Amino acid sequence: MTAPAPDTTRKYDLAFAKWVYKNVNGGDKLSMCMQCGMCSGSCPIGVQMDYGPRKLFMMIRAGMKEEVLSSNTLWNCTSCYRCVVRCPRSVPVTYILQDLAAKASELGYAPKKENKRFADSFWWSARLFGRTDERLVTAKYYFSFGLSEGIKRGLDNLKIAMGMIKAGRMHIGMPHTVKGRKGLQAALKKAAEIEARQSGV
Ligand code: SF4
Ligand code: SF4
Repeated sequence: MTAPAPDTTRKYDLAFAKWVYKNVNGGDKLSMCMQCGMCSGSCPIGVQMDYGPRKLFMMIRAGMKEEVLSSNTLWNCTSCYRCVVRCPRSVPVTYILQDLAAKASELGYAPKKENKRFADSFWWSARLFGRTDERLVTAKYYFSFGLSEGIKRGLDNLKIAMGMIKAGRMHIGMPHTVKGRKGLQAALKKAAEIEARQSGV
């Protein structure tokens, strides 16, 4: 369990930054960031984020805990790794955002209902194909809110999808599957049975 993030009331209070350095995967590398903006400039979905990674890292240093942990940047990052490849200081931007999202969720900042819907969509794809197909996971998640909301969300995020296709981070053919998919499905079924037995469901 992660140590609770410290409350920061003063501007430029370093307590939150120190917490990130210590508790977040890759956070210890944040001190290497020189605020060049290469990450934000390379991000295919930066326009859909509350703050680009460069700004978010500056806000961490500025002690803006609430704004950072509740920002949609953590949830909108698609892990395309463009920022990581281009960062001149080798800051593991993607890992930091991923783990900040996990910590935010653990600390109660994530919209829980949406997480459950997303987790259900993720596991649906993992079970069916043996891997996650980002297009189908996203579509299933959007349409879990109903037909019209699904269409609306799809249209709202069309720009992101186009950016990812252009960056080579989303393919447009049939879903990829893993070898030995049947074996994986059997293993997952068994794991679910064991879990149900242990929890007495
Ligand atoms: S590219 Fe690297 S050094 Fe530049 S702002 Fe982003 S994280 Fe910081
Ligand atoms: S890994 Fe995330 S933050 Fe980095 S460029 Fe891709 S979407 Fe943007």
